[in-house]
Amino acid sequence: MKFTQLRLAGFKSFVDAAELRIDPGLTGIIGPNGCGKSNLLEALRWVMGATSAKSLRGGGMEDVIFSGTDTRPARDRAEVSLTVDNTARTAPARFNDAEILQVVRRITRGKGSDYTINGEEVRAKDVQLLFADAGTGANSPALVRQGQISELISARPENRRRVLEEAAGVAGLRARRRESQLRLNAAEANLARLQEIVDDLASRHASLQRQARQAGRYRELSVTIRDYESLLWLRRWREASEAVSAADAALADASAEADAALRAAAEASVAAEAASARVQPLRQSEAEAAAALRLAERTRDQLDRDVEAAHEAVARLTQRLEELRSGEAREAELHEEARDALARLKHHITSLRAPAGADGPAQARAEAALADADATRQTAEAELDKASGACA
Ligand code: ATP
Repeated sequence: MKFTQLRLAGFKSFVDAAELRIDPGLTGIIGPNGCGKSNLLEALRWVMGATSAKSLRGGGMEDVIFSGTDTRPARDRAEVSLTVDNTARTAPARFNDAEILQVVRRITRGKGSDYTINGEEVRAKDVQLLFADAGTGANSPALVRQGQISELISARPENRRRVLEEAAGVAGLRARRRESQLRLNAAEANLARLQEIVDDLASRHASLQRQARQAGRYRELSVTIRDYESLLWLRRWREASEAVSAADAALADASAEADAALRAAAEASVAAEAASARVQPLRQSEAEAAAALRLAERTRDQLDRDVEAAHEAVARLTQRLEELRSGEAREAELHEEARDALARLKHHITSLRAPAGADGPAQARAEAALADADATRQTAEAELDKASGACA
């Protein structure tokens, strides 16, 4: 596997598209400090699947995108393309048909990296494996950074081992072994899950067998129950038939009895009509008697009320008679008093008439008194007459 060309666009200081041809033999890059020599090596490691931004002298992977200068604005994308000669057919089987492999890595701000090999989208792992099989890669010790020699001298044994493995051309195998180990672990986990499923199925199988036995028993019992039910229904049918026969006989008897009863009812109806005809005049008489009775009762009630009223009138009149009697006694007393007064007056008049010739004015006074006494008497007599009339 030979690298033949490296193309950069927007990567670090290579804002415009730049191309590095790697011809047979040695290819050297020379230039002043800061012209971008190390950036080229980093582009090579980046396109081979480098994952450490720190090893690319950046804080994050997006730092590899051209970040702009005083005169040029920053870019949003960076792309590095590495052309590999595969005429020796050492690439993995998936890409080994092509003579030339075009490995491209792009990065876009906020979206991350993606890879293609000959235009086909691939995973980062596919690219890393491609170069690992060829004994190189982003972290290959063959790519020596500034100051890396001194780092190698003081490196840990496992890092040195990586250098040796790469020199022996087994770095790809090591990477594959890790992947196989991961797959093995996943397969073991799957196996454990399968075992759980098998155990679960076994317990469900046992439960289903139990249920199947119960279902068989249930079927047998169902058949027996159906037989017994058939017998029961036959017996009930027979009993019902007998009951129907008995009911038919009872119905015939009842029909005969009903006919007799109908006949008796008809006769009774005729007799009732005849009786009704006889009863009609009696009912008329009864109605008339009832009317007469009601009239007599009304008359009696009226008479009772009249008697009551007469009693009350007698009581009132008796009371009035009592009052009149007492009035008559009073009048008799008055009459007696008036008679006494009259006698006294007559006596007085007689006594007054004797000396009449001697005293003229006295006689006049006596005559006036006599006239008053007469008037009083007449009034008393009129009252006496009135009281006598009232008493009568
Ligand atoms: P030296 O000989 O001193 O090692 P060099 O030739 O290797 O130098 P590099 O270190 O490759 O030079 O390049 C450094 C230059 O790249 C610096 O000028 C730096 O500003 C520029 N540079 C690095 N990253 C970016 C970036 N993301 N965007 C723009 N320029 C960058």
